[in-house]
Formats: sequence, C-alpha cells, structure tokens
Amino acid sequence: MSNNDVLKVEKLVVKYGEKTAVKGISFTVNNGEVYCLLGPNGAGKTSTIKAVLGLVKYEGLIDVLGLGPPSPVVMNHVGVVMETPAVLEALTVKEFLEFLGSVRGTFNARRVEALLEAFELKDYINTPIAALSAGNKQKVAIVAALMHEPRLLLLDEPFNFLDVKSVRILKEIMQRHIESGGSILFSTHIMEVAERVCSRIGIINDGVLVTEGTPGRIKEEANAGTLEDAFL
Ligand code: ATP
Repeated sequence: MSNNDVLKVEKLVVKYGEKTAVKGISFTVNNGEVYCLLGPNGAGKTSTIKAVLGLVKYEGLIDVLGLGPPSPVVMNHVGVVMETPAVLEALTVKEFLEFLGSVRGTFNARRVEALLEAFELKDYINTPIAALSAGNKQKVAIVAALMHEPRLLLLDEPFNFLDVKSVRILKEIMQRHIESGGSILFSTHIMEVAERVCSRIGIINDGVLVTEGTPGRIKEEANAGTLEDAFL
C-alpha cells in the first residue's frame, strides 16, 4: 500500500451461499479523491462497501487507511452512509448520535450541532428516528457519518430520498471533506451523478469491475456504446 492509497481492495469476492455477488474486483481509492462505483441495481456495490466495513465475509485483500483490514479500530476513522439500522429507530435523533459518539469514544457537540443546523434537523433532535421522513432519516445518517471527522467516507447512494437543497449541502460537505485531505468511496447507479461528483469512476456490473477511469473517459466509452450492458 503506497502513502497515497486510502483504500485498497484486491481480488475481492463476496458470496451469499450459492450466489457470488462480487467476483474478484480490485480498485484503489487515492488520497483526496472521490472514487465512484457506478453500476445498476444488484451489481455488487453495496456488497463491496459492506466488505470494506467488515459486515460480510469476504475473500481477497482489503486495507483501510494503511491500518489493515476492517476492524472496529479501523472503522473509527471511517464514516458510512447506508440505511439507518432499524434496531436503533426507537432512539431519538439526539440519543442516536450520542450513542454513536459513545461507541466511537468521540463526540464533538459543536460539530454535531453545526451538521444538524446545516441539514435543518434541529427541530427533530428529540423525535424518534422511526417517526422521521425518509429524507430526514437519510440526513441523520449523513450527520452520523460525518460527526467524528473521518478520513474516509463510504457513501452508498447517499442522495437517495434527499431534496434538492440537501443534495447541494451534501455536495458542498463532500467537497470540503476532499479539500481538507479526506477521501470518499461513493456508489450510485446514475451516470450523471457519478460524472458530477467523482474524480474517478469504476463501472461495476454483475460483480465485475468492467472498466475504470476519469468521468471524461468513462463518458467516451459510454457514448461509444461499449458500456451498454452495464446500464440496461
Ligand atoms: P442495489 O443498488 O440494488 O443495492 P448493489 O449494486 O448495491 O445493488 P448488492 O446489494 O451488493 O448490489 O447485491 C449484489 C447481488 O447480491 C444481488 O444479486 C443481490 O440480490 C445479492 N445479495 C445481496 N445481499 C444478499 C444477501 N444478504 N443474500 C443473498 N443475496 C444477496
């Protein structure tokens, strides 16, 4: 792993019983970049991110931030936006964020407050997460991912459920995260989103990384028709 690598994934395989969801993919997220896994539903994006989090069994090599494979200690330096775990939905927004802070051992009240303010969640801090709209739940997940200032963000379809204003705020936050030396692994099934927010794109289809490159190069390939299968 070179100093520039923030996340290294090599020959990753994820299986669910008979089903092989990820079939030996390799990619690297460099320091200061937004790397996008772009592919249709079922391509293996979430399974890849779950492997990086150590949430599913995998074969192959994963190194996070040069600290080694996924582990609770390594995960203290990572922020993730996936679905809010249903089991925690009985907690209020405040309780949920405080709980996460206690698990991680860091809670910066001022940063949490600023994030809640940015996403217009302050009126909801005493509301049980279960009672929030899908968009507000997604915003709480984003605050939870950012509150401990992780170096690496894993954002799995993070714009889901968000209104236009929240998408803009998240884009700004992503930009600031990169400018301050952080990195992002991002997933989406929408080419235009990948082009707008990512520095490099890896096209994933049926568990295989089909091609990789800058948005410009990927767009050329798409226009030439060679990526058709990945987007049908
Ligand atoms: P989506 O955007 O729909 O979530 P994805 O690219 O994130 O798609 P994955 O969720 O990683 O794809 O799924 C990859 C494949 O693995 C799919 O065929 C999916 O049905 C299958 N899969 C995912 N989770 C499981 C599971 N727990 N058990 C069995 N199969 C699974």
